[in-house]
Amino acid sequence: MKGETVFDYAPAPENPDIARVKQHYQPFIDGEFTDGGGEPLKTLNPATGEVLAEVSTVSSSDVDNAVSAAREAFERVWSPMPGTERAKYVFRLARLIQERARELAVLESLDNGKPIKESRDTDIPTAAAHFFYHAGWADKLGYAGLGRDPKPLGVAGQVIPWNFPLLMLAWKIAPALATGNTVVLKPAETTPLTALVFAEICQQAELPPGVVNIVPGGGDVGQTLVSHPGVDKVAFTGSTEVGKQIQRQLAGSRTRLTLELGGKAANIVFDDAAIDQAIEGIVNGIFFNQGHVCCAGSRLLVQESVVDEVLTNLRARVETLRIGDPLDKNTDIGAINSAEQLAKIRELVASGEGEGASRWTSPCPVPERGFFFAPTVFSDVESSMRIAREEIFGPVLSVQTFRTLDEAVTMANTTPYGLSAGVWTEKGSRILWLTSRLRAGVVWANTFNRFDPAAPFGGYKESGFGREGGRSGLAAYLQGDDDD
Ligand code: NDP
Repeated sequence: MKGETVFDYAPAPENPDIARVKQHYQPFIDGEFTDGGGEPLKTLNPATGEVLAEVSTVSSSDVDNAVSAAREAFERVWSPMPGTERAKYVFRLARLIQERARELAVLESLDNGKPIKESRDTDIPTAAAHFFYHAGWADKLGYAGLGRDPKPLGVAGQVIPWNFPLLMLAWKIAPALATGNTVVLKPAETTPLTALVFAEICQQAELPPGVVNIVPGGGDVGQTLVSHPGVDKVAFTGSTEVGKQIQRQLAGSRTRLTLELGGKAANIVFDDAAIDQAIEGIVNGIFFNQGHVCCAGSRLLVQESVVDEVLTNLRARVETLRIGDPLDKNTDIGAINSAEQLAKIRELVASGEGEGASRWTSPCPVPERGFFFAPTVFSDVESSMRIAREEIFGPVLSVQTFRTLDEAVTMANTTPYGLSAGVWTEKGSRILWLTSRLRAGVVWANTFNRFDPAAPFGGYKESGFGREGGRSGLAAYLQGDDDD
C-alpha cells in the first residue's frame, strides 16, 4: 500500500463570505472605531499573496489616547465595579465569541493561513473557553489564595504575535478584565483582523468604553505602547529578541512584566513507547499550525534502538498530510503566515543541509501561489547545528538519538529555551523522574499540545517568565506583597 493513493479527497472548501471581510478596518479606542494617524497597512491572505483588507494604524498620539481612555475606564468604571458585574461582561464576551465562531474561524484562516479545521476546532473554541474560565474567577478572586481582597494593577499594555491571533488575545484580555484591569492591545501587523472583530464584540457586549482598546500597527507601535508611562503592566508574546528588548526598556521602572517567548522543545520517545501513538503526537507536535507554535515539539529525541522504526513510520504518516487551501476542511497544513517567515524557514533548512543533516521532505503536492512549505524531517542532526538550536517556527523537525535516560535529559535541556517538552514511554516512574529534571514550563506525557485555561503556561530561561492561565495567570494581573 505504501506510496499508493488509497482514495482521493474531494475539495470541501468553507465559504469565505462567512468571514464578512471588510475592505477597511479601523483602530478601536474609547469604545469607538476611528481612523488612526499611522500609515495604513495592507493585510494579505498568505494562501494567495493577495491583499485581504486595508487596516488603519495608530500613531503615538493615538496610543496616548488609548492609554488615557483605559486609565479613565479603570478608575471610573471597571475597577470599582463589583466582581459579580464584571463577570457578566466577561461571560458575555465568551458567549458572543461562540455565537460568531464560524465567522471568526474563517476570518482567522484567511488572515493567518492556518487550516480551517484548526481555527474552527482549536483557536476559536479555546479563546471562548478562556473568557468562560475567567468569567468564573471575577467574583471569586478573594478565594484564589492571592490575598483576601486582591487589587488590579491598572492599565495593561499587551502585544501579541501572529501565530494564534484571537487565542493570544484571549490569553491576554480575559485574565486582565476578570481581575479588574483595563487593556490596550496591539495585534501583529500580519494578522490584525480577528482582534478588530473582537472589538466589535466588545461593543455588542456593551462593555464600557475604554475598558478594551485595540491599536493596530507595527513594531514601533508595540514599542510605544510597552514603554508608555501610563501603562502599569506589560504582557508580551513573541520572539525572544523583542522580549529581551522590552525587558531592557522596562528595567528599573515599576511596570510589571510577563514575557512568553520562543521555544525549542524536546519531544522524547523511549523504546517502550506505543510507537503509533507517539507518531501522532510527533506529527501534532511539529506540524500543527504549520509549526508556528512557540511550544512546538521541534526537536525529536528518539532512543537509538527504535529510531529506524520511528523514522519509517513517521515519514509514511507525514506523506499523508495534505497541504493547501486553508479554507478546505480536508487541509492538514495551511499557508506560512508571511513571505518573511517563509524566507526564514528556507534559510534555516538550507543551513541544515549545509551543515550535513539528512533532509527528507514530503513529496506532497504544494500549491504554486501563496506561501507554502512542505513538511520536512531532518535526521543525522547534531546538537551544534542551527536547526537543533534555533527556533525555525515552521513545519520542520530535527531528529536526534540518545541511549540513556541521563543523555536524554542533557540533550533536552541543552537549549537556551525552556517552554515545553514531551515524553513518550509506558513507564509512569520514568515520566515522574524525567518531568522533575526537564527545564520546561510544561511537560506533556504521552500527548502533546494540550491546552486548558485552568493550566498555567509559561517558560524558563529565554522562553520568558510569568504564567498565563490558571491561578498563576490571575496573579500576573494583581498586586502582590511587593507592591505598595
Ligand atoms: P516579534 O517578536 O517581532 O513580534 C511579536 C509582536 O511584537 C508583534 O505584534 C510585533 O509587531 C511586536 N513588536 C515587534 N517589535 C517590537 C518592539 N520593539 N516592541 C514591542 N513590540 C514589538 O516576532 P516576529 O513576528 O517578527 O517573528 C519573528 C520570530 O519570532 C519568528 O520566526 C519566531 O521564531 C518567533 N516568534 C515566536 C512567537 C512565540 O509565540 N513565541 C510568536 C511569533 C514569533 P509586528 O507584528 O507589527 O512586527
